[in-house]
Amino acid sequence: MNSSILKLLKKLISKASISPNDMGCQKIISKELYKLGFAIENFKIEDTNNMFAKIGNKHGKTLNFLGHTDVVPPGNLLNWKYNPFVPTIHDNNLFGRGAADMKGSISSFIISVKNFLNKFVHKMKGRITILLTSDEEGSAKNGIKKVVKYLIKKKEKIDYCIVGEPTSEIFLGDTIKNGRRGSLHLKLYFLGKGGHIAYPNSSENLIHKACFFIHDLTKFDWGDNYVDKDEKTSVQVSKIFSEDVPENVISENLFLRINFRFSHKVSVKQIKFCVRNLLNYHNIKFFMKWKLSGKPFITKRGKLLDIVNKTIFLLNKKKPKVSISGGTSDGRFISTMKSEIVELGLLNNTIHKPNEFVNINDLNKLSAIYQKIIEGLLL
Ligand SMILES: [Zn+2]
Repeated sequence: MNSSILKLLKKLISKASISPNDMGCQKIISKELYKLGFAIENFKIEDTNNMFAKIGNKHGKTLNFLGHTDVVPPGNLLNWKYNPFVPTIHDNNLFGRGAADMKGSISSFIISVKNFLNKFVHKMKGRITILLTSDEEGSAKNGIKKVVKYLIKKKEKIDYCIVGEPTSEIFLGDTIKNGRRGSLHLKLYFLGKGGHIAYPNSSENLIHKACFFIHDLTKFDWGDNYVDKDEKTSVQVSKIFSEDVPENVISENLFLRINFRFSHKVSVKQIKFCVRNLLNYHNIKFFMKWKLSGKPFITKRGKLLDIVNKTIFLLNKKKPKVSISGGTSDGRFISTMKSEIVELGLLNNTIHKPNEFVNINDLNKLSAIYQKIIEGLLL
């Protein structure tokens, strides 16, 4: 067992770095990287800590590890068996907020880099960089998005990027990602005609209209049926609100909050157009507010994906599934640098939940996988 991964991970979990607070996590990681000879730039942007560390020769290929030191809030502490910010080992599992998403992956890749450099620093052909933010789980506005803009300006390049998000589903390495769906938010206000509940013909019941509208919207064919089930465009209504009126009154307005997770086969323009058409079809008067929180991206399949596939196959005797399912990730910002991106990390079955944990063997396995990938790309 590699005790340095656990040691580092325990230190990171002990910091209650609820997004966008870093709480000193990046300092802990910097200390490890300084010892290895990394040059480190820190970017404090408003409430967010970001860092970019690099080592090696810029003229070779650059392999970047991307991660976030922030975590989601623990929620109701009564649902936790152990304090979420006191790392606790039970049955070979380490419990704590961020154990899987994604302080565990960060610890694994830092130690894999350390082991690689200890062995091969003089043979390394290219460069290793590490990019971290403390705002991935929150608004993400002062995180990787802004740092990438700076890096592009500085003519930095990233050829390959490994994102340490927890992509595994049943066993380590069963699923990896080379893209993500986009995310589009809609606030929708229906405007109608209120009235006495006993005279529905002289008013317009927006709640009834909303039911039919939602039915059609959630059944809508976005034309991407040929992609995998969890990669298709999906629509979720997350809030319906109507003002509190007396019992015998039909309300004259209604509010809906809707999110679209859309594949790269569907455009924002197309979604907006179809939603408007559907509203008109249901004869609904409305006004709406859209917010695009992430464009979909999918990166080319090249050397990185090849090596990741081979490395995982050697370990699991099974190739990983390459998927674009799940939420957005900071990989979307790196994709603007034209890098080849693969997301590969721990199991995601306890992330954002009470009693988040990581299996200790998985940490070691993941670190070994990362190290093999570095060797495959930079030797
Ligand atoms: Zn994450």
